[in-house]
Amino acid sequence: MNTRTEERDRIEDESLGAVCVSCGLVVADVPLIWTRQVGRHGPEWLCDNCTRENLSAIEGKLDEIWW
Ligand SMILES: [Zn+2]
Repeated sequence: MNTRTEERDRIEDESLGAVCVSCGLVVADVPLIWTRQVGRHGPEWLCDNCTRENLSAIEGKLDEIWW
């Protein structure tokens, strides 16, 4: 009886793909280079481009610490 609901929940959870929370890019299959983070409403994804921007922002801060 609940099979249909459970199946839909499962699809929404994993199989539907992902949306980048930063630029809104949608993919059917989440690439390994995407970053998963936990946001206010649950898991959020960052695409590789936005991950790279995030990393360089972090590296910039690290540079300030290191130098
Ligand atoms: Zn993005």
